[in-house]
Amino acid sequence: MSWNQQLGKKFNKELILKEIFLHSDISRGDIIKETGLKKATVANLVNELIDENLILESGEEASTGGRRSKKLKFNEKAGFALGVDIGVNYIYGVVVNLRGEIIFEDVQTIHSAAFETYFERIISLIHLLMNKVPPCPYQIVGLGMAIPGIIDTGGNVLDAPNLQWKNIELKRMLEEIFQFPIYISNEANAGAYAEFTFTQNKEANNLLYLSVGIGLGVGIIINGKIYQGNNGYSGENGHTILNLNGKTCTCGRKGCWEAYASEHAALKEAENLINETSLTLEQLVQYADENNEKIRKLFQEIGFYIGIGITNLIHTFNPEKIIIGNSMTKAQRYVELALLETIEANTYPAHFETVSVEFSSLRGQAIAIGAATFIIDQFIELSSS
Ligand SMILES: [Zn+2]
Repeated sequence: MSWNQQLGKKFNKELILKEIFLHSDISRGDIIKETGLKKATVANLVNELIDENLILESGEEASTGGRRSKKLKFNEKAGFALGVDIGVNYIYGVVVNLRGEIIFEDVQTIHSAAFETYFERIISLIHLLMNKVPPCPYQIVGLGMAIPGIIDTGGNVLDAPNLQWKNIELKRMLEEIFQFPIYISNEANAGAYAEFTFTQNKEANNLLYLSVGIGLGVGIIINGKIYQGNNGYSGENGHTILNLNGKTCTCGRKGCWEAYASEHAALKEAENLINETSLTLEQLVQYADENNEKIRKLFQEIGFYIGIGITNLIHTFNPEKIIIGNSMTKAQRYVELALLETIEANTYPAHFETVSVEFSSLRGQAIAIGAATFIIDQFIELSSS
């Protein structure tokens, strides 16, 4: 087979697999209609996919011509991916099937530890996840890990200010221990990818995912593809400057959006307001539930600042959808109104009328699922060659 033919075959096989992935219980005839491929091509490639356990034949469907054709299904249990979301105060891991559905999850809390301690905890979490993978044809298709920081295309963490990690060859270190493929991503990119791939947001081809955790970052989907910038560093909007002489940010500069609109900002401000230390976001939500006016006002202020930053994003990207995810979703009922009012008051009407701003339906799970999704995509792409 020539290189050109091989490329054509790979393209067609991926097309068929994606068609079956998107429409469960599809027939060979439907695939021919949807893809415009020849009958013989579809027949051959479908057989290959069945032999490779990537799709299954199920049931029978009466076709209009009187012939019966079997329906095809994507085999989401052919393999499993591991996803790990490294937070500043937690490590969250999932085992997902090839549809991104969680079959096991575990979360561990961790506080201001050195990298070595984090790394040990991460390794033991990965071993725990590995043990939960059920027997299946492809076993573990890989591990995706999301980090709140700047990641280069080689899987190195250049800078994660809230974790205080700098220049860590994370992918290489993990590859020395584990045999499966590994992909390191930025957490906001992972969240955006999960929201786009595995929720009802598939239709929104221009989507932004705002990760509001201890820090703040943005994952960008443009024309149905993730946009990572020239070097993979896009979406560092947490460090766009709202106030030239403002609060000091963890990055060392002054007045960053993150210093006003993140979980870190809320916790720091709350310590001053109610004179308590070692607070958590869950405690703040509880105080707000108990009608603590100071904390309720604080959440309104956080909502206002999230809204200001979102207004800037809307004016830059003219997106269809903005999804707010990560830990701040826990305080949705206290930040949402101020956030939406701020956006409405400050956005050009033409922009405002066409954008929807929502909180993530995947809540705290989006980032880990998204991290795993990058590796599932790699697997599916390789399987089609
Ligand atoms: Zn900053």
